[in-house]
Amino acid sequence: MRIKQISRGFLKGLQVTGIHLFRRPVTHPYPEQRAYTPPRFRGIHRLIVEDCVVCRACERVCPVNCLTISGVRGDNRRFILEQFDIDYSLCMFCDLCVEACPPHCLVMGPEFEIAAENRHSLRRSLLSQPKEEMV
Ligand code: SF4
Ligand code: SF4
Repeated sequence: MRIKQISRGFLKGLQVTGIHLFRRPVTHPYPEQRAYTPPRFRGIHRLIVEDCVVCRACERVCPVNCLTISGVRGDNRRFILEQFDIDYSLCMFCDLCVEACPPHCLVMGPEFEIAAENRHSLRRSLLSQPKEEMV
């Protein structure tokens, strides 16, 4: 009886393997092939530094307080950003900071690779983003 059950299970397993053997794979061989990210994907933030007026609306609206922003007043009385850090160990990619930004200079990009060796490395400055990431 037991041998009969085992052989039935074995044959069923072979049948499932046979069905799926010649089908197209549904997974991507990541990281060789990047996954498709839709246009409104909420990935790592991007900041157009020149357009930021340092109003700190994004910092105030963040429900987990993971934004740290500071600036100084420049010669033309316009504020200049000195610090714009996001702690990605806390950020939950809710998009509220993006919605609160008056000049729309803060957006969420398609990047999602934020793996790090420790929590401190998950704190990122948007001032040092490579220019190609801003496009
Ligand atoms: S996406 Fe949400 S949690 Fe992350 S920084 Fe913006 S407001 Fe804060
Ligand atoms: S809300 Fe926009 S303009 Fe204001 S500090 Fe944040 S990124 Fe800069």
